[in-house]
Amino acid sequence: MGRNVKKSVGKNKYLFVCCMLLVITLAGGIFTKIYVNIEKNGEDTEKIRIVTSFYPIYIAAKNIVDGSDGVILENLSEPQTGCMHDYQLTPQDMILLSKADLFLVNGGGIENFLSDVGESYPNLIIQTATEGLKLLEEDVAPVEEDSHPDEDVQEEHNHGEDIHGEENAHGWMDTRVYAGMVENIADFISQVDQENAEIYQENREAYCEKIENLSNQIETIRDTFSKEENVVIFHEAYEYVAEQYGLSQVYCLNLDEERQVSAGEVADVLGEIAGNDVSVILAEELYGKDMGETVEKETACKVYYLDTLVRGTYEKDSYLKGMQRNIDCMKQALEK
Ligand SMILES: [Zn+2]
Repeated sequence: MGRNVKKSVGKNKYLFVCCMLLVITLAGGIFTKIYVNIEKNGEDTEKIRIVTSFYPIYIAAKNIVDGSDGVILENLSEPQTGCMHDYQLTPQDMILLSKADLFLVNGGGIENFLSDVGESYPNLIIQTATEGLKLLEEDVAPVEEDSHPDEDVQEEHNHGEDIHGEENAHGWMDTRVYAGMVENIADFISQVDQENAEIYQENREAYCEKIENLSNQIETIRDTFSKEENVVIFHEAYEYVAEQYGLSQVYCLNLDEERQVSAGEVADVLGEIAGNDVSVILAEELYGKDMGETVEKETACKVYYLDTLVRGTYEKDSYLKGMQRNIDCMKQALEK
């Protein structure tokens, strides 16, 4: 019996040593990991953190910072978020912004959470990509509501000096406005990371050249097919398309989000089409498809589906490719 006890103590000792070895190995591993993390964080804090508000701004900034190791570029929203009209900041967004040095936004009222951000992070530099650029005035048929909105209340929402109407924020849909936004973004990033400013200005030049190529194509289409074409649009963003292609927009039904279209609105659209000899309608696949099908059934109009360029992959050339598809589609729409 004595021998048996001795034997089991021996076994326990062996087990104890094994456990200790395991603990030491694990601890070593954990400490190494912590050390590496500290190193990595130390490295990251030296970099300038830039956060963009949503997709078109992220893609523009991505083209500017390409090849620079001075900055970390992140996007607030997901690549599939779309427009930010009703966006609510998440706790993760707040963490991202708390670490950021520069917050790049589109402006034009599309980021309606901006005053909260300004209050929460008074030291964060917020720059607006459309600063100094001429945006179109919002010109959308009012969505039918149960009660008439109080005009005084509406006016209170108009911040800034311009109280005539809100701005149409979708400026990136006009390649000339987008080029201006890219120039602004390059300047804003150069200001916070002067060391790499040369890279940013070179990138700006190369990217703007590609955008100019798109602008030239649109100008050619405009000159070739311009014939006072009346169009109806199913998305506020396409006011910029109508403007750049020299089309006369007779009606805008804004389907920028999932919503019910009332019978009254359908009647209005059909009335405008008939009354203005409209044959081309510009719509978005995502929210305008149902209405597009209705109109194609009821009239001789053809609906052309364009990309609003607010969703996609984080690929650098996604704006250029998306806009090229839009140009090809517009050419088809106008050369009939
Ligand atoms: Zn929008």
